[in-house]
Amino acid sequence: MELRDLSDHVEYRAGRGIEEVARELGRDPSEFVKLSSNENPHGPSPKAADAIRAAASEVHRYPKAVHADLTAKVADRWDVTDEQVWLANGGDGALDYLARAMLDPDDTVLVPSPGFTYYGMSARFHHGDVAEYPVAERDGEFALDAESVLSAYDGERVVYLTSPHNPTGARFTLDAVRDIADGVDDALVVVDEAYGEFADGPSAVELLDERDDIAVLRTFSKAYGLAGVRLGYALVPESWADAYARVQTPFAASAVACEAGLAAMDDDAHVEQTVESVEWGREYVHDELDAQTYESHGNFVLANVGDAEAVTEAAKREGVLIRDCSSFGLPECVRVTIGTREETERAVAVLNEVLDA
Ligand code: PMP
Repeated sequence: MELRDLSDHVEYRAGRGIEEVARELGRDPSEFVKLSSNENPHGPSPKAADAIRAAASEVHRYPKAVHADLTAKVADRWDVTDEQVWLANGGDGALDYLARAMLDPDDTVLVPSPGFTYYGMSARFHHGDVAEYPVAERDGEFALDAESVLSAYDGERVVYLTSPHNPTGARFTLDAVRDIADGVDDALVVVDEAYGEFADGPSAVELLDERDDIAVLRTFSKAYGLAGVRLGYALVPESWADAYARVQTPFAASAVACEAGLAAMDDDAHVEQTVESVEWGREYVHDELDAQTYESHGNFVLANVGDAEAVTEAAKREGVLIRDCSSFGLPECVRVTIGTREETERAVAVLNEVLDA
């Protein structure tokens, strides 16, 4: 029996946690800080942690197929209808739902390069092909603009925009998103705002009032500190009423995740503190790291360190895990997640030593 060849998907799953790295190096996990996956080092809101504990007593019951309370809360937060909210198992799950809703076999999607790997994987899972548009460095910055996307566009069904963009930290203006949506005929433009809380300025959700060819992705994994429970959502055009029921898995998100999300949304102060700490950390890394860094609107900073693989390995031996961006096609760059103040200071000190050696 021949399996489908999905071998290029393996690399995405290779990101390793502290336990695994510590075991490999024969060291204690407590010696490491993990700044490689853009997580929230402060953890979730205590309210969300309490809700998770409370939900534990009910986990022998199936969750609701659609969690009406959380759906309504998200809809209210963004001023959209409940039908426009597609809760999912993380932002990744929401990407799968969108691919399922849009793609027929052999349709093609347009993804950023470098960019978040799961867009292409999700499309391939749904029998789609993948084309790329360049996210290029110009005058010392990565700029995201409508022209690069539109000049690469060739009839794809779905176009993915990441704003703020992983791994560069750049972002699209709403005018650019509008221009792209205007220029791509019948395609759906997915605006991935997984890092949206860390950027000031408007969300593309505003555009959902004006048009029905845009979907916006948000997640609880980053600013809300809930990566482990897997909760995210897509906000889809108003004209898509009823479509969710056709694509969602029987239980779109776990009961524990939904209760956590509901409670997390009651603690804006926690998100604000997280964002403030990221703003401090971005500035600290820009100012103190002895390498070229790029302006970031996310909870991470991209830095050009020359040999990313060597620097990542050396930092790992010093107990600091960062992301080597070679697999993104940026062999000179590393991506450093903003940690707690202490973690960020330690990471910069270690990286400066490595770069100095
Ligand atoms: N979009 C981007 C750009 C990301 O970087 C990530 C996670 N790293 C996601 C979406 C998905 O995150 P999650 O599935 O944890 O919500």
